[in-house]
Amino acid sequence: MQPIAMQKDSRIFIAGHRGLVGSALCRRLCSDGYQNLILRQHADLDLRDAGAVRSFFETERPEYVFLAAATVGGIFANDSRPAEFIYDNLAIEINVIDAAYRCGVKKLEFLGSSCIYPKLAPQPMKEEYLLTGPLEPTNEWYAVAKIAGIKMVQAYRRQYGFSGISLMPTNLYGPGDNFDLQSSHVLPALIRKFHEAKIAGAPEVIVWGTGSPRREFLHVDDLADASVFLMQNYDGEGIVNVGTGSDVTIRELAEIIAGVTGYRGRLHFDTSKPDGTPRKLLDVSRLESMGWHPRIALREGIAATHDWYKSSLL
Ligand code: GDP
Repeated sequence: MQPIAMQKDSRIFIAGHRGLVGSALCRRLCSDGYQNLILRQHADLDLRDAGAVRSFFETERPEYVFLAAATVGGIFANDSRPAEFIYDNLAIEINVIDAAYRCGVKKLEFLGSSCIYPKLAPQPMKEEYLLTGPLEPTNEWYAVAKIAGIKMVQAYRRQYGFSGISLMPTNLYGPGDNFDLQSSHVLPALIRKFHEAKIAGAPEVIVWGTGSPRREFLHVDDLADASVFLMQNYDGEGIVNVGTGSDVTIRELAEIIAGVTGYRGRLHFDTSKPDGTPRKLLDVSRLESMGWHPRIALREGIAATHDWYKSSLL
């Protein structure tokens, strides 16, 4: 199928533009010279409200949609607010995808997550492992909603010929991340913990779990680059993994962050906290075969994110 490319004056709706992914997409599209970005804050448009979403699409008539809006959070948030994670995400997907199709959007890109894959999927995880086994229980609410979004995009393509594509990013980090210790993911949580421990001269930093789970981390500016690349160059039913293809243990991650923040104390692993899935590494050969590769190395990306965090405190 022939891809339908965005033009610099195309009307582009970034759903979730204040979030980690959406804000990176905004930065990227602005710096590429796209002039017609359509943005709405949560207070002005609740994407869980079907009527509001439909009238927004009818009025604004976006041509391209990046669906990066979601209720997100780390292992603790997912586990403790299951109803919000499943309801909000299903509602956002149903409303935005359906309105996009009905209001003539040329192309929609749906942002999923690597947690859609089975907990014990072989590693690295290929796109075809979707729905081949049970999910990780700590984030199954979010994962079920994201799987529904993928299937909705595929169903609208099959039945209506709607040009929707789905990306599955690995764990993301970068400027604009959530540094709240109760709801954040591990990487920003550890940047904050080590930063504060360094300033306080604390003898140890508590790291949740055993330190042995393995995770892959992608800088959100790389994800924005891949998102634009796929919007312009890919138009198929199959989902596409977006990652670096390499992972580290949580202990290794903690050591890198200790190095970047200059912290020299001990690490204390709190094994009363959950480890979550033992390993989450994407097979990125489908995307690499299209010619896309990440550019930002982990240590460099963490240093830039630490700088951003420090500036956000000023
Ligand atoms: P996950 O990738 O969905 O499991 O979510 P997280 O990014 O929240 O957690 C990844 C891993 O990091 C898990 O094994 C956590 O137990 C571990 N971890 C270690 N310290 C922390 C921390 O301070 N916050 C969070 N969120 N996770 C931590």
